[in-house]
Amino acid sequence: KRIVMAIDGGATKTTLVIYSEQGQKLFEKTSTGTNYHAIGTEKVERVMTDLLLDAYKAVPYDRFEVAGFAMAGVDTERDLSTVKGIIESSFNNVPYRINTIIVENDVHSTLIGLTRENPGALLISGTGSIAYAKDGKGNIVRTGGWGHRAADEGSGYWIGQQIIRAVVRHEDGRSSKQTILKELLYETLKVNQLDEMLAWLYHPEYTNAQVASISSILNEAVKLGDETALNIANQAAVELTLLAETILQKINYSNEPFVFYLNGGILQNHSTIRDLFIQNMLTKHPNLSFKLCDDHPIQYIVNRVFLELNKKKNCS
Ligand code: BGC
Repeated sequence: KRIVMAIDGGATKTTLVIYSEQGQKLFEKTSTGTNYHAIGTEKVERVMTDLLLDAYKAVPYDRFEVAGFAMAGVDTERDLSTVKGIIESSFNNVPYRINTIIVENDVHSTLIGLTRENPGALLISGTGSIAYAKDGKGNIVRTGGWGHRAADEGSGYWIGQQIIRAVVRHEDGRSSKQTILKELLYETLKVNQLDEMLAWLYHPEYTNAQVASISSILNEAVKLGDETALNIANQAAVELTLLAETILQKINYSNEPFVFYLNGGILQNHSTIRDLFIQNMLTKHPNLSFKLCDDHPIQYIVNRVFLELNKKKNCS
């Protein structure tokens, strides 16, 4: 029996699935994030090894045709060789053998699985933010997504950070504007005052994913008409527009009908940001259509892996 494996390694969650060639799901498990920029190589190797060991318990085959690793944090050639090294070390602990291993940026893989042979663009705003596009000739380009220290504007992490900054600014008197974000933030973190919030922020177990999860309070504040929250939502939409506009320039987009896919927790759950973004884009590019992805991202990575499997079949 020929089987394949697909892994979606995001900053917050990692999902591993195994499928038979006939498309039957044999295994699925989700664990914590595996972006090594955020948590370091050792932790990523541990999460990955545990996932593979669990998979082996459930599916003790020894050979896979294709394994596709779609990994956040693969942004440069150097990242690619680091992440390949981590994956190789993880396989040292598990008796799986793989004929073809693909290691790619998470959104790169998703775009291929989503658009298949068609052109299209994909904007993600989850823990990180990034845009990818494929033109009619199959060329793939990207914009943004250079991690939380360098970019990721308009992402969940970025929004979480804007919320924390706004609250601190208000607390120490640099802003006199009242904002409900403070109550909502303290309530979410189960703290009563600034020093406790800072203790949470500088705790040794701190993760970017935790800051990104704070972004969920923005919706509530926006609904209450909070001005600071509305400004953050507006700014997030402006940043995402810039990502999307720039990716269209990179493929020389010239106003023909074209699909822009949207995905990630922020674009899925924050309708104010999504609507502002779409409005901004349509003003300049009226022939674009926007589609919110409705499958879990792992489904697109599975498609991407099957495309590779079929390519191999056609060649052999
Ligand atoms: C990472 C990218 C990733 C993006 C979306 C960014 O923080 O640097 O590699 O593609 O988030 O997950």
